[in-house]
Amino acid sequence: MAKLIFKYGVMNSGKTTTLLMITRNYEDNKKTVLIGKPMIDTKCGDSLQSRLNNNTFIRKCDFIIDNDFDFNKLVTGKKIDVIMIDEAHFLNKSQVKKIANLVHEKNIPVICFGLKVDFRGEPFEGSSYLFALANRVEEIGVKAICSCGSIANMNLLSVNKKNIFDGEQVVIDNDSKVEYTPVCLNCYLNKKSEAQLENKKND
Ligand SMILES: [Zn+2]
Repeated sequence: MAKLIFKYGVMNSGKTTTLLMITRNYEDNKKTVLIGKPMIDTKCGDSLQSRLNNNTFIRKCDFIIDNDFDFNKLVTGKKIDVIMIDEAHFLNKSQVKKIANLVHEKNIPVICFGLKVDFRGEPFEGSSYLFALANRVEEIGVKAICSCGSIANMNLLSVNKKNIFDGEQVVIDNDSKVEYTPVCLNCYLNKKSEAQLENKKND
């Protein structure tokens, strides 16, 4: 039976790179792969981009998931060996359920890649439901390292070099002012306390 797999990691943990590597392995073996991402991710338009050792890899998505995306239509009449979904944290509950049904009913494996937690320390809806429904959940093998040397498990957002801890969940880094840094929980909480002290001083 096909499986729904969720591979999660922090920013810069090589999620898209891993997706593209797995895709290549399938395609080298003459398998058909469809790659998609949620519409909410406006970074790089309708493509995926990964960076490794100063090289940039770009791959056009085969589909973009909007609110009433029809997964059955996507696969009907085609022989698809695997579906890859990047930025899967941006999926909503209903989209994750549709994907789980697709895996089950059409027997097509789906591998989702995404973040577990947003910059506020809150879970993403898509990731929560993937954690709930996936046959297998695994952390991306490449570990992003915090500046203190620990393994990073949180995503720190800065806008114009100022660390931000609240606001809207979706802040896309397609602007040089917006930066995400992988950090460990200790450093995340220290920086959050610093920001709160700073805000109090300014009040
Ligand atoms: Zn740290």
